[in-house]
Amino acid sequence: MAEGPRVVICGGGAIGAATAYFLARRGARPIVVERHQVGGAASGKSGGFLALDWCRGSPLDALARRSFALHAALAQETGDVWGYRRLTTYGGYAVEGEPRGSGGLPWVADGVSITGRLGTPETTALVEPRAYTRGLMRAAEALGATLRTGAVVDLVREEGAVRGVVLADDDTIEGDAVVIAMGPWSILAARWLPMPPVFGYKGHSLIFKTGDAIGAEALFLEYQEAATGETLTPELFARADGTTWVCAISSTGPLPLDPGAVAPDDGAHTRLEKLCRAISPALAAAPIVARQACFRPVTQDGLPLIGAVPGVPGAYVATGHSVWGMLNSPATGEAMAELILDGAAQQVDLAAFDPGRLRPLDPKRLSDG
Ligand SMILES: Cc1cc2nc3c(=O)[nH]c(=O)nc-3n(C[C@H](O)[C@H](O)[C@H](O)COP(=O)(O)OP(=O)(O)OC[C@H]3O[C@@H](n4cnc5c(N)ncnc54)[C@H](O)[C@@H]3O)c2cc1C
Repeated sequence: MAEGPRVVICGGGAIGAATAYFLARRGARPIVVERHQVGGAASGKSGGFLALDWCRGSPLDALARRSFALHAALAQETGDVWGYRRLTTYGGYAVEGEPRGSGGLPWVADGVSITGRLGTPETTALVEPRAYTRGLMRAAEALGATLRTGAVVDLVREEGAVRGVVLADDDTIEGDAVVIAMGPWSILAARWLPMPPVFGYKGHSLIFKTGDAIGAEALFLEYQEAATGETLTPELFARADGTTWVCAISSTGPLPLDPGAVAPDDGAHTRLEKLCRAISPALAAAPIVARQACFRPVTQDGLPLIGAVPGVPGAYVATGHSVWGMLNSPATGEAMAELILDGAAQQVDLAAFDPGRLRPLDPKRLSDG
């Protein structure tokens, strides 16, 4: 039997792992090149929250709906090693220092008002994002994919087409196609390809060991901070492994070249911890097991780049998924596999995500750092 095409995927986040999985399932030979750790960036540190219909009315709707269905199927097919669970999701508000709210959930503080249900177990779900990303990569490897550690620093070209990547140690990996899936670090590819810019937007999170104090629930809150008067929008997700993940406080801090060097902003975790202890006695009593910071990849128009790089045979990109990269990873991986192997995506129309819709970044605007 003829061997499937070799596809080099730059980046072992959720998007790279899902692309490898769907390519391997179709008989191709994906090689994921990861500079730091699989799931070591946003894909391992994010919330992992999934919603069926929260992208309705936007060009992301079909991608999100297909992804939501694929998440349920993947969890079943792979033996659910990443704690997939359905959730009931609530919205509410609180004003710091005001002790009385309307309450509504047994684990929230008296000062919190729960204003409504935003999602049901039919429409909202959760994965533990690091286990999901690593689990998908392992599932891809079981189907014939390969994982290489290395930093991609350039592309191999042959008669105008891209035919592989060059690593920092000068080694090369050849392939029939290359996919740029380096999250916010995809901006580096603007040196090698006519690609629009991708930016990093930093977020901070804490993980508490809450045991069974919080049920299969999520909470999106508006929280007015007393000291700053600022309204923060914490998100809280109770995971199947007995931990609870909470995020708030974003910033535009600079993206370090090395994904292993991402650090929190000064004081951000202290501020977030104070908020968490105030909104829930269950969080107030729980030890913190991780303090995290990571960068979500964003584009100029807020939509991902998913498709072929215009004018460069063999070059593809899948990045810029912003706040919905965990949700939208399976349908993105599936669409990339269809695009590369069949010439067009079948399940989801990728027209709105065409990388050619945005002006390429002038590589002179990238510093040497
Ligand atoms: C605080 C926060 C909470 C979030 N919560 C959610 C959520 O609840 N639900 C949701 O759907 N989305 C969420 N997101 C968004 C989601 O995390 C991202 O959209 C998603 O992780 C992006 O995945 P990625 O694979 O594109 O990028 P990354 O996860 O950034 O992966 C890129 C990979 O490329 C590697 N890399 C970098 N440079 C090189 C190089 N030169 N060579 C080789 N490899 C390289 C990196 O090491 C990294 O592993 C959240 C994001 C943040 C910041």
